[in-house]
Amino acid sequence: MKENYYQPEIECASVETLKALQDERLVKQVKHVYENVPYYRDLMDKKGVKPEDIKSTADLHKLPFITKADLRDAYPYGLLAKPLDECVRIQSTSGTTGRRVVAFYTQHDVDLWEDCCARAIMAVGGTKEDVCQVSYGYGLFTGGPGLNGGSHKVGCLTLPMSSGNTERQLQFMTDLGATILCCTPSYAAYLGESLHEKGYTPETIPLKAGIFGAEPWTEEMRRDIEKSLGIKAYDIYGLTEISGPGVSFECSEQSGMHINEDHFIAEIINPETGEVLPEGEVGELVFTSLTKEAFPLLRYRTRDLCVLKREKCSCGRTLIKMSKPLGRSDDMMIIRGVNVFPSQIEAVLLNEGYTPNYRIEVDRVNNTDTFDVYVELSPEMFSDTVREITDRENKLAAAMRTMLGIGPKMHLVAPKTIARSEGKAVRVVDKRKLH
Ligand code: ADP
Ligand code: ZN
Repeated sequence: MKENYYQPEIECASVETLKALQDERLVKQVKHVYENVPYYRDLMDKKGVKPEDIKSTADLHKLPFITKADLRDAYPYGLLAKPLDECVRIQSTSGTTGRRVVAFYTQHDVDLWEDCCARAIMAVGGTKEDVCQVSYGYGLFTGGPGLNGGSHKVGCLTLPMSSGNTERQLQFMTDLGATILCCTPSYAAYLGESLHEKGYTPETIPLKAGIFGAEPWTEEMRRDIEKSLGIKAYDIYGLTEISGPGVSFECSEQSGMHINEDHFIAEIINPETGEVLPEGEVGELVFTSLTKEAFPLLRYRTRDLCVLKREKCSCGRTLIKMSKPLGRSDDMMIIRGVNVFPSQIEAVLLNEGYTPNYRIEVDRVNNTDTFDVYVELSPEMFSDTVREITDRENKLAAAMRTMLGIGPKMHLVAPKTIARSEGKAVRVVDKRKLH
């Protein structure tokens, strides 16, 4: 694939140029926030930092963090930095981990956000010749509107499908020859499964690339989707608080996502102490938005755990890369004292030849944690004898024990009995929180 850039002067700029741009923008942004957001001004005053103390990115660590709790505290208007009559859009988080928060955009903010999404589409080879099917939800969720805007900027023929109505998704995809699919990875897996049921094979599906994000997914899941749809599957990352999808995006190398550093500074911190960690270490990702006008967050703690690396990339981009988030710090379950991430369970299941249709249930009975994983049998396995199925369950439980250090009770269930996801998949039911 020939490398394809939307804004090569930025995407391939020298590290010095990017750094100078960040320094200049940070100084301006801190001033803008201090003057216009009393909530953050208070945080800075409490920490004894003045805008004049921030002269370059080297001073970033002096600024206070802002957290999701602050966003909920300041809901709805407390972090707004522009008069409402200059704002043109509101978006909201999906509420995966609690009360939704809202974010505001000026027209300029929407424009820059859509540029970020256009970079992501061009990085997967998108051009004006492509038909781009956007099957992320539209509305308050940022997935649909963001990729829709990016697709327009690239000049693709845009199919604003939104999520759901799977029959119509398949019909339009095949009738209109969609070449790029944008949706959550769990929905992509479901669309692949549904196409196969209709008799399509990877060769007869018109798609060439997919841009999948908004939820964690493993390398195993990537391989599965690529095989099923006959495409290259690329990751995209973002969050409403910082703009939406397109904060970072994958390139042809498929080994981490380039962060749009002209708009966002990324740091990795130790989630317990707040200390900034050196490149290459795992920690919590923190973003400072440099160009947002209406809702500019400084040092926002994402709770996503990942690693940053600045390496020469074969795509020619110089933007720093982040690894796939290993999960959210609040996704991590502590079961009988052991830290477990759903992504580890997914990796084992796919490696052992199962589909990504699973559900994890954790509960506490007589002061002991129970840990159950339900996973679907494939139609071929379904005809196995009870004995064979029990053997499979034991084998899976042993593989899980090796990976996690703790063995769940495995339950193999009939095909199609675990609900499919059209947006962000809900795979964990932690009943301990309900008691
Ligand atoms: P919510 O926090 O309610 O889900 P958003 O819809 O804004 O709100 O989702 C942002 C979050 O989604 C991120 O903080 C991250 O945890 C997750 N996310 C987004 N893209 C990815 C990705 N490519 N891989 C893993 N997680 C992702
Ligand atoms: Zn690259």
